[in-house]
Amino acid sequence: MRRPLVAGNWKMHGTIASVSELIKGLRLLALPGGVDVAVMPPCLYITQAIAGLAGKNVAVGAQDCAVEPMQGALTGEIAASQLADAGCRYVLVGHSERRQLLGESDGVISRKFAAAQSCGLIPLLCVGETREQYEAGETLAVVMRQIGAVIEALGVGAFAKAVIAYEPVWAIGTGLTATPEQAQQVHGAIRALLAAENAAVAEGVRILYGGSVKAASAAELFGMPDIDGGLIGGASLNADEFGAICRAA
Ligand code: PGA
Repeated sequence: MRRPLVAGNWKMHGTIASVSELIKGLRLLALPGGVDVAVMPPCLYITQAIAGLAGKNVAVGAQDCAVEPMQGALTGEIAASQLADAGCRYVLVGHSERRQLLGESDGVISRKFAAAQSCGLIPLLCVGETREQYEAGETLAVVMRQIGAVIEALGVGAFAKAVIAYEPVWAIGTGLTATPEQAQQVHGAIRALLAAENAAVAEGVRILYGGSVKAASAAELFGMPDIDGGLIGGASLNADEFGAICRAA
């Protein structure tokens, strides 16, 4: 049995004051024992979140890391080793906003994935098709290429200590959600792709769904056999809504 994971991606939201309020709200939540919960604040607030959530079963992660794992001369970047030193457990790699708006390639994303693992962090690899690709029927081809790039670079065994998030780009922040059946089809195909190379890795890897997940839609999505939790954007900025999503997992 895979243990569900619900991760909140705060994106570029927050101030010291609002993060403090959100942490207070998270501390008050009754969280289910059988679910892993994590939040990913902007880097600036990671230490604040780790201190504020001490003793609460909410892990903290980052939204990105540098391709170079160790600290060094790379202005503006943050190394996976520094995230690990701060107490992070997870790091997102390949979020669609970074792929699309910042031009991150599959090659760069594979290097970030490797950097994270080399520092003991769990990379959470985001994959998903754009609206145009969806309409052209290219969903599976796109997702397979994105995951295939990591397999090619690092081997399928790299997914023994990683998480995958399927996030259709057309569903992110739009209020549109893939139906549970649509999402399940993609999640099942991802697991089958991994199983063709290594059955144990495929069986163990958690595949999260992301894209406008709300408390109202979470239970049905998380009820599908290959959906092991969610990556939550907008709804993770509200502690009560996020708590309800965690309880649906
Ligand atoms: P959303 O974002 O829940 O606001 O759609 C999800 C994500 O981008 O991870």
